[in-house]
Amino acid sequence: MNVKKGIAILGSTGSIGTQALEVIGAYPDIFDLQVITAHSNADLLIEQAIKHLPNAVVIGDETLYEKVKQSLWDYDITVYSGEAALSQVVEFHEIHTVLTALVGYAGLKPTLAAIRAKKTIALANKETLVCAGELVTKLARENGVNIYPVDSEHSAIFQCLVGEFHNKIEKIYLTASGGPFRGWSTEQLKTVTLAQALKHPNWAMGAKITIDSATMMNKGLEVIEAKWLFSLKAEQIDVIVHPQSIVHSLVQFEDGSMKAQMGLPDMKLPIQFALTYPDRLKTDFPRFNFMDYPQLTFEKADKETFKNLDLAYKAMEMEGTAACILNAANEVAVDAFLNEKISFLDIARINEETLNNCISIQKPEYEDFVESDRQAREFAKSLV
Ligand code: NAD
Ligand code: MG
Repeated sequence: MNVKKGIAILGSTGSIGTQALEVIGAYPDIFDLQVITAHSNADLLIEQAIKHLPNAVVIGDETLYEKVKQSLWDYDITVYSGEAALSQVVEFHEIHTVLTALVGYAGLKPTLAAIRAKKTIALANKETLVCAGELVTKLARENGVNIYPVDSEHSAIFQCLVGEFHNKIEKIYLTASGGPFRGWSTEQLKTVTLAQALKHPNWAMGAKITIDSATMMNKGLEVIEAKWLFSLKAEQIDVIVHPQSIVHSLVQFEDGSMKAQMGLPDMKLPIQFALTYPDRLKTDFPRFNFMDYPQLTFEKADKETFKNLDLAYKAMEMEGTAACILNAANEVAVDAFLNEKISFLDIARINEETLNNCISIQKPEYEDFVESDRQAREFAKSLV
């Protein structure tokens, strides 16, 4: 019997994926890496496969299949390619937990497949819950599947809730660093360059989430993610700007008591906790020193300048597929910004216009999310 925990990492070549491999590699007696996947970075996927020896790899881009296959010829590693393979590999019997570390709406389908196969989900791919939280959480309940958050704010809330699951949450506060443009005016934001937007003050992350952090869309997506993870109403979720990123988020209970989880900003900790819950494994990660942070500060989010945050609340209020529409618009807009086709402020403009113009389908089924995502992308592209 295999007593080690079988892990699949969807998106192993990304920021979360590579850090997850470090965590898994540090505990060979605990984890058994089964599957890793990448979209197009074949070189890194091959390197990771040779180092970590999973049973299977998936390369999304089918034109790279031969290259990966040839490179791994001497190893006992099965190579798959194409989008459909993602939803198949997550079903492997040996897998216990699927870490969804791929970016964007592309995570929805394989996550649903993993839940149907009754795999525990370690969820980094917030877009999946944003788009189809109702469907995903319902399916997880029906299949008795736990979804453990990897996102640092949600991991913080989850860590505060351990031992308190029977107690009602009055409110949660998601902390936000404020990103590289905290305190900037709309006028100043008009001339923001791509390089400036890609420079996050506290976290090194993939390009998409780095831009989302600069526009505050990331916090908007996280508000929606929190709603589904912790079964909250919109008015129970507040955002507070905390530039030092030490307090990762807070829960307020019905007696007024507040619990926070703190630590240096390092995604390896929430990744590891999602893979080992309820256990905490000893690490040599750098420790927090109070003298390095004599002041922890908190301020209001500037919702006037950073419009994406309110758009997320609006999408929640609209229900149906509205959040899926907002997410699709944002994926299109961020992609256009990364390709320097639009300006920084265009991102929120495209998001707002798309949310206002595409029809949110109420009581959606899976096909409705697919349709809303398609329509919103088409509309958003017309605004680029
Ligand atoms: P990234 O861009 O660094 O990596 C993305 C990974 O997904 C890569 O392995 C890539 O090959 C794969 N991928 C990209 N497009 C794909 C597609 N269409 N189909 C299949 N695979 C695809 O991204 P990241 O920063 O690691 O973020 C991953 C997810 O985790 C995102 O949803 C992000 O919001 C979330 N997250 C990231 C951080 C962080 O610190 N990076 C923190 C919290 C949450
Ligand atoms: Mg986060």
